[in-house]
Amino acid sequence: MAEEATAARSEDQEEDTADRDGGSSEEEQEPKPQQKETPTRAEVSNYEIVTHYFDVAKERLGLRDDVAEVLMSSYREVKVQIPIPMEDGRIHCFSGFRVQHNGARGPYKGGIRFHPEVDLDEVRALAALMTWKTAIVEIPYGGAKGGVNCSPSDMTEDERQRVARQFMAKIEKVLGPTRDIPAPDVGTNAQVMAWMMDEYGKLHGHTPACVTGKPISLEGSWGREAATGRGLVYAFKEAANQLDIDPSEVKFVVQGYGNVGSWAARELADLGATLVGASDAYGAIHSEKGLDAHALADHAKEGGELVEFDGDGAEKIDPDELLALECDVFIPAALGGMIHESNADSVKARVVVEGANSPTTPKADDILNDKGVFVIPDVMANAGGVVVSYFEWVQNLQHFRWDEDEVNDRLGKIMRKAYKAVHDRADEDDVPLRVAAYELGIERVVDAARTRGYIGGEGDG
Ligand code: NAD
Repeated sequence: MAEEATAARSEDQEEDTADRDGGSSEEEQEPKPQQKETPTRAEVSNYEIVTHYFDVAKERLGLRDDVAEVLMSSYREVKVQIPIPMEDGRIHCFSGFRVQHNGARGPYKGGIRFHPEVDLDEVRALAALMTWKTAIVEIPYGGAKGGVNCSPSDMTEDERQRVARQFMAKIEKVLGPTRDIPAPDVGTNAQVMAWMMDEYGKLHGHTPACVTGKPISLEGSWGREAATGRGLVYAFKEAANQLDIDPSEVKFVVQGYGNVGSWAARELADLGATLVGASDAYGAIHSEKGLDAHALADHAKEGGELVEFDGDGAEKIDPDELLALECDVFIPAALGGMIHESNADSVKARVVVEGANSPTTPKADDILNDKGVFVIPDVMANAGGVVVSYFEWVQNLQHFRWDEDEVNDRLGKIMRKAYKAVHDRADEDDVPLRVAAYELGIERVVDAARTRGYIGGEGDG
């Protein structure tokens, strides 16, 4: 694995301009200026992070090198050119990627990210993570991911729509309800899924099951928008029980107040917990007496930067200070590599619940483990989104709809079962939850791949 950066990127180098309201806003918004203040991030890539955790599990499972090679490489990687006429009259040529990692357990499934840092390496890593994630929660999918290297917050709604439609038109041949089903991720939302579904329908007829995370008006599922954040809280409640923590007495901090972060915050606040710090791509705020998680979510949804929120005694802090705030629970819900070797030691929380994908580098993970911080890993904790995407797909295939209570009940059952399986495995093998989760996910994929004859041979590890 490459050396992890000790000197993380400076603000000036950082070009990250993620759409701040991600999964919720469907209204036209003015393009946003470049972000102002961002925390440091590790230079270790998402791919290196995912590969490292895979390698640890591979050794522990005694997997043969040739089998591991099949499992770590992608089935299919598509890169397409997306030339878009922009409002300034020029054509901008974006790159779009779709990586289908492993389909042993079912159709490929994974989000689509619109973000300036998207590249093949990142998409590849996130696709592999989806393969293990769907196996851990035992839903019948493989793993995929997609993305376009654009900056949605600097684009008009028309430009975003053109990108979404052209991207779908270019990759539709490898998609479909029985092949590969995209969903929202960073910088995309229900509206983007609606455009993609419409574009797919022009060629194949009305096919709502071709994407998930759609608006309710277009056969989206109740509970999908909140599902990832809600799933995080279901997983946290299991851990809290085990660690003898009362969720109503918890102080917590959320890094990245987008779809995942703001929903996790609202769900935790509804249990009585106190939100004492939050951040977005533009800065961070802190309030000792507690921020109103719902009001803050409304503020963000209306396009406001968190640092402009003036209720609840909120004060602006340096984004790097957010990690070091006194709290019981820290929820990284922004991008990968944000907890790294140089800042992991400053984490005060007793529990880290990973909402983002790959937020913690391997070296930071070791530091957190040594400090006794209980980490609920991304590959299990943030699976709620894909679980409810699965419910949406099931409902779409039947043109039937469940109410929100039914969706949430079913989600709760799956998250609790996955937590228990991972926790029992961790106990049995005396390893952290992350190692146990990877072991479990990889084992299930190997089993499916071997049973269908995709990999075979006597004595596979
Ligand atoms: P989003 O675009 O809705 O929100 C991202 C948030 O992070 C925004 O508030 C943005 O302003 C903030 N952000 C961006 N850069 C930041 C920075 N440098 N510092 C602090 N905040 C920053 O995206 P999302 O859908 O909520 O996804 C967040 C994370 O959760 C991603 O890692 C994504 O892959 C992961 N995830 C999402 C889902 C889902 O269902 N949406 C499911 C599983 C995992």
